Amino acid sequence: MADKIAVIGAGQMGAGIAQVAAASGCEVSLLDVSIENAQAAKDKMAKSLERLVQKEKITSDSKTSLLALIEPSDDMSVVSQTSFAIEAATENQDLKLKIFQELDKHAGPDTILASNTSSISVSKMAAATSKPDQVVGIHFMNPVPRMSLVELVRADQTSEATYQAAKTFAEALGKTVVTSKDRPGFLVNRILIPFLNEACLCFSEGVGSAEDIDQGAVLGLNHPLGPLALADLIGLDTVLFIAQVLHKDFGDDKYRPASLLEEYVAKGWLGRKSGRGFYDYSEQKK
Ligand code: NAD
Repeated sequence: MADKIAVIGAGQMGAGIAQVAAASGCEVSLLDVSIENAQAAKDKMAKSLERLVQKEKITSDSKTSLLALIEPSDDMSVVSQTSFAIEAATENQDLKLKIFQELDKHAGPDTILASNTSSISVSKMAAATSKPDQVVGIHFMNPVPRMSLVELVRADQTSEATYQAAKTFAEALGKTVVTSKDRPGFLVNRILIPFLNEACLCFSEGVGSAEDIDQGAVLGLNHPLGPLALADLIGLDTVLFIAQVLHKDFGDDKYRPASLLEEYVAKGWLGRKSGRGFYDYSEQKK
């Protein structure tokens, strides 16, 4: 089991990864653009863990020891002491390439650099580093503490040793691993995003209400969550970005993102995290 890791990006995914790693006894440096952002993510995690204590799902002691293992930071040099640095920043290729260049400067000789990207080429991120064989995709699902799958993405340059270390790490966190080649959307989002996009098209064409579309998938397809509610949970900016990657990289119009998705993102309707998406979450944010 990795003893010390860094997570870069303290949004919903980064915080979730930090939480499951700390729950397995890992020391975690949780980085964001500012220490205030990283601390805010830790405070939010403390609140959600407290709710679990109240429901008697975890003990107060385990909450305290988990939180003690998470150190908010904005200093990339902490990566030199880690066995894994997992990038979970905003889904944007230029940003991720910059972060990988920066991680490469600070990584220790054996640090494995991983990305939680949903769709961006891991081989490109590997190429931005001086040890591309030590780069791999470790794609957690949302919400990280509840979802048992991790999709490992082998970049063209990923060595067998790096892949095996990533597999051992993910399994030590209690996750089940599937492996994908480094192709647009990998496995899970190649299947999921066209489905979510189709639901957006049905909604924008007025084929059904948001509630009917979601109910159709929940009761008709036995999905735990309808596609529009799931898109709101993922973040509409992230869904749009992945759809754009599929569209551009495959060069096939069947992946063209729904215009409504672009409109929502342009006006800041990003789903749950902004309080508004296909549904209104403003009451829940208070
Ligand atoms: P988010 O918007 O909740 O969080 C992104 C975080 O990255 C923010 O806190 C932001 O401040 C931070 N950030 C931006 N630039 C940074 C930098 N230079 N250094 C450090 N931190 C920086 O996004 P998210 O939903 O947590 O997604 C993060 C990654 O995980 C993306 O690559 C996304 O595709 C992937 N992912 C998302 C989901 C999902 O359902 N949302 C599922 C699997 C994977």
